[in-house]
Amino acid sequence: MLEKIPVFNSVAFPVPQDFDRVVDIANNLWWSWNSPGHQLWTSLAPRLWEQSHNPVELLRAIGPEQWHTLTQSESFTDRYRDAVTAFEHYMDSDDTWHGTHGRDGDCIAYFCTEYGIDSSLPIYSGGLGILAGDHLKSASDLGLPLVGVGLLYRRGYFHQEIEADGDQQHIYPTLDLDDLPVRPVTATTGGQLRVSIEVPGRVVQAAVWRVEVGRIPLLLLDTDVPENRPSDRPITHTLYVRGREMRFAQELILGVGGVKALDALGIAPTVWHVNEGHAAMSMLERLRNAVGSGIPLDTAREQVKERTLFTLHTPVPAGNEKFDRALSAKYLGPVAEGIGVEVGELNEWASSNGEEMFDLGALAIRFANNVNGVSARHGEIVTRDWSHLIGHEAISVTNGVHTPTWMGREGSRMLRNDFGMEWATKLLENPDDIKRLSEVNDYLIWQWHQNRKDAFTTFARGRLRRQFARHGQSPDELGSLENLLPTDRLTLGFARRFATYKRATLLFNDLERITELLANPDRPVQLVFAGKAHPADDHGQALIRRLVELSRLPQLVGHIHVLEDYDARIARYMVQGCDVWVNSPRPPMEASGTSGMKAAINGVPNLSVLDGWWVEGYTGDNGWVFGSEEPNDDWDAADAHDADDFYRVLEEEVAPLFFDRDDEGLPTGWIEMMRRAIDTSLVRFSAHRMVAEYYEKAYHQQ
Ligand SMILES: *Cc1c(COP(=O)(O)O)cnc(C)c1O
Repeated sequence: MLEKIPVFNSVAFPVPQDFDRVVDIANNLWWSWNSPGHQLWTSLAPRLWEQSHNPVELLRAIGPEQWHTLTQSESFTDRYRDAVTAFEHYMDSDDTWHGTHGRDGDCIAYFCTEYGIDSSLPIYSGGLGILAGDHLKSASDLGLPLVGVGLLYRRGYFHQEIEADGDQQHIYPTLDLDDLPVRPVTATTGGQLRVSIEVPGRVVQAAVWRVEVGRIPLLLLDTDVPENRPSDRPITHTLYVRGREMRFAQELILGVGGVKALDALGIAPTVWHVNEGHAAMSMLERLRNAVGSGIPLDTAREQVKERTLFTLHTPVPAGNEKFDRALSAKYLGPVAEGIGVEVGELNEWASSNGEEMFDLGALAIRFANNVNGVSARHGEIVTRDWSHLIGHEAISVTNGVHTPTWMGREGSRMLRNDFGMEWATKLLENPDDIKRLSEVNDYLIWQWHQNRKDAFTTFARGRLRRQFARHGQSPDELGSLENLLPTDRLTLGFARRFATYKRATLLFNDLERITELLANPDRPVQLVFAGKAHPADDHGQALIRRLVELSRLPQLVGHIHVLEDYDARIARYMVQGCDVWVNSPRPPMEASGTSGMKAAINGVPNLSVLDGWWVEGYTGDNGWVFGSEEPNDDWDAADAHDADDFYRVLEEEVAPLFFDRDDEGLPTGWIEMMRRAIDTSLVRFSAHRMVAEYYEKAYHQQ
């Protein structure tokens, strides 16, 4: 698939010819989940790497003198050779899962508004983006012929700073594309490929860029080009931009422009996977193409539906992306005309429950023969709420995580030694082999976990130092941070978007009770929080403020920590280095959730409300449940009940098991729980399983 999308180099790297493949490796995010790639960067420039974690930036920063030293260094040249060998082997291998289970001629287009592949390419916000990134990585590992389509946000998503009083500050970076692993797609006429999208009274051009995710190409559209009016250039600047009209324009570019980009490259997908409603306007563009080629509207509609899979990620219709009809009226005239209908007809297609809104979720459902929820329970909810539009049951494909990305160093090394670089694919084929990991003796499992906990602690102290220095704390105060987060305490992690339904402050419902539990001298507990709230979400931001206030209460100081600027890198530290992963959504609002899966594969058991993936994941011996799984409209009563239950489980089950040590200081019962967490998640909640299931249930059917 990559070959179909030619690119050229717009940046020159001062790299000696004998080592020029470092540029190819820097430009392919393969390095981010394969250790020979990682090791290449750490041996190239350890200190720079620690600072930026961005190989493209690294290569631009290294001068001829440094290269001269490097080329003399045996350790570097060895690492280089290993990385090139592994990379070539990966890219050239024909022996893939799709080669065995798939069929020739497949071509899957995957549309999503955000992609979280690595923190060095900051065009994602949270769970949806990380899921899409994991989807591309697993598709690559499995050899699926898939192409991703998205937008290149030059102002990314905001960086979060948390002030001393808990206020969230939004800092929008300006990304230098020369520092990113994106390259211009070549137009047949030379130069960078552009696609044209009609908007009221003019045409907006979008430049097309290519990112490489292993074997998978990801196309990104970008309206910041000189041919556009200055006022149109920022359309694709900011992910989840607040202005509704700007958002509509952005999603028009994604849907319509994305289809045009594939067309221009001669890519004819056999299946279109629209991941969440933001990209639903792609369906209108496809309909326009079909009608334009002479196919009657009704037949064209059927054709579009037959080849479309739509994935919903929200459990309530109110969560869909919706716009005022003034916007469809303003923007969709040309599209409607091309289809041969009035805009009013498009509004009908995008209507739901009689609301006068342009609802992208409803539009997508009407144009997709396959609609899926992202967990078994969510699939049932989608069927219940939407079957009047779908006409049949929704399917469900439970989310998963890309295990090579999220697995800690020691576990990965062992799996790689036993099963080779492609261990995740091997485990998918032979799930019984998981036991290799969990059969490791008690001492080693515990040791590995302590290593991850130490790494997380060091990282968190560094982050807090930076945070508190900005708040103006004294050198002595900053020095005392070295004693923060003692590793002998039971550490509970909670990190995700601060959306109100996730109830980040639930645990403080009874302040006296939680204080007693955290500050228990025999079984001390600490809580670490991280997450961003959307800039327009005042309630979410209030939760952060509340947590910061709590963390400063004299009786709680040192037991609660709030880390700023949550991203994929912090997520990795946390899901590997906490002891327990807490999740407290208001049921049934968690469609799936994925951070708990990342924790589980690392032997970090979940302590969670039964909602989303945990309904399927919980086996009775691989973690804990608390609270009620039933929806309850009396929120105060539900919160009080769920919080009380949390205290009970923490006090009676979690803490005693953690602090119960044998003669050698090992918590043997706890370690058994860790084993069960790994065994019940490593394949079942992997993105490899998810992508294979998408293939079998939906991609392959079409
Ligand atoms: C995994 C992940 C999420 C999703 O977390 P949930 O618990 O599923 O909400 C969000 N943000 C980042 C950076 C992640 O890595």
